[in-house]
Amino acid sequence: MKEKTAQLMESIVSLAKQRGFIYPGSELYGGLQNSWDYGPLGVELKNNIKELWWEMFVHQRDDMVGLDAALIMNPKVWEASGHVSNFNDPLVECKKCHERFRADHLKEKKCPSCGGGLTDSQQFNMMFRTHLGPVESDDNIVYLRPETAQAIFVDFKNVVQSSRKTLPFGIAQIGKAFRNEITPGNFIFRTREFEQMEIEYFIPKPAKDADWEVHFDAWVKSVHEWIRIVGIDKAKIHELDVPKDELAHYSKKTMDFEFDFPFGKDELYGLAYRTDFDLKNHEEHSGQNTKYKDQSTNEEYWPHVIEPSMGVDRTMLAILCSAYTVEGSGEKRREFLKLNPAVAPYKAAVFPLLKNKPELVKKARDLYEQLRRTYAVAWDDRGNVGKRYYSQDQIGTPYCVTVDFDTLEKDVVTVRDRDTTKQDSVAIKELNAYLDEKLTYT
Ligand code: ATP
Repeated sequence: MKEKTAQLMESIVSLAKQRGFIYPGSELYGGLQNSWDYGPLGVELKNNIKELWWEMFVHQRDDMVGLDAALIMNPKVWEASGHVSNFNDPLVECKKCHERFRADHLKEKKCPSCGGGLTDSQQFNMMFRTHLGPVESDDNIVYLRPETAQAIFVDFKNVVQSSRKTLPFGIAQIGKAFRNEITPGNFIFRTREFEQMEIEYFIPKPAKDADWEVHFDAWVKSVHEWIRIVGIDKAKIHELDVPKDELAHYSKKTMDFEFDFPFGKDELYGLAYRTDFDLKNHEEHSGQNTKYKDQSTNEEYWPHVIEPSMGVDRTMLAILCSAYTVEGSGEKRREFLKLNPAVAPYKAAVFPLLKNKPELVKKARDLYEQLRRTYAVAWDDRGNVGKRYYSQDQIGTPYCVTVDFDTLEKDVVTVRDRDTTKQDSVAIKELNAYLDEKLTYT
């Protein structure tokens, strides 16, 4: 049975810290306004998410290539993209306590902290600014990128020329983005430094709406497929067709994929039809040709773009919220993470039944060394087997393999399943095949 919604977030944050998934950033110095650090297991989970995404969207498709561009770009990029003039959130300040809020996130027109009156809203630009080089002047202002997307447009020509891809095809990128959010919060849901997994999918210039809609619909399906594969509870996903008057300046259609987080329904991912807005603007601002040349017709034009945009951190939060499970109560209470094996930090754990029996420890250690050549495997010889199960369940390890006296006699081990708690006796020579079958996720 899932814990009540109100406690859920607290339990997840607490488990994440206790087990080394996510710690408050700069905690030693009192933290830093909702910044978070990914600990030993957090970095494994996060890397697995990114690898799975790359595998699904880049390696397994003929029509995709990758990119890893610089975080700091020429500031003209952000003028062309509209970020300098348009990447604003409405900011209000409490006239009494001077706390600042994002106006469109407030339910009432008064200060949520002290009830004081609010100023009129002003546009606040969310890009972080710094200076390039040793001199601080207006001439060398640069921005930390607020999205990974723009580098894909700026590099579009280079990618076409070097990869010889023809339309339709996409460019994928994973990397950090920075936004000076007015009100960061809700754990890793909204932070000022976060990671994105973005795709710009370039399509031929559409003659009619159906020509881009067919690609848009295919991407809706792919996003749902990703949600299933990565282990996010699809019953908690809702599609939101963003109303026309709320569309971003570059978008003709946007679909948000919302998730029922413990604090409420909110955006997990976005999918936008960006038309030819970006490539066209980069040509206008740079004076360089950003068009695509169709080799068969010699026609030159700006391709149109469908953009699936996904936050790594929000993916992680949705996974943790989907996987967090509590069963039983009292002595029998079991708190565990039903992580999809593909993203679980460890695929299996190996234990010797007893720590003080060298022959068991040696056999278990040999098995551990053998398995770790194929999978990420944990070793645990502390406490009793029950405690080790509890500990591995809490971090989402799908299988625990115990080396016991039967192993010494018959070369069989006990394999215990995290979700069912059922135990199987498996011959060591069949263990790899057994785990392969269980861990392969389609
Ligand atoms: P929001 O409305 O929540 O501010 P947005 O619509 O501005 O988000 P996009 O610009 O579409 O977000 O960014 C693409 C994706 O990047 C989002 O769907 C989300 O997964 C992630 N993302 C955006 N802002 C943040 C943030 N401050 N912290 C963590 N992830 C973020």
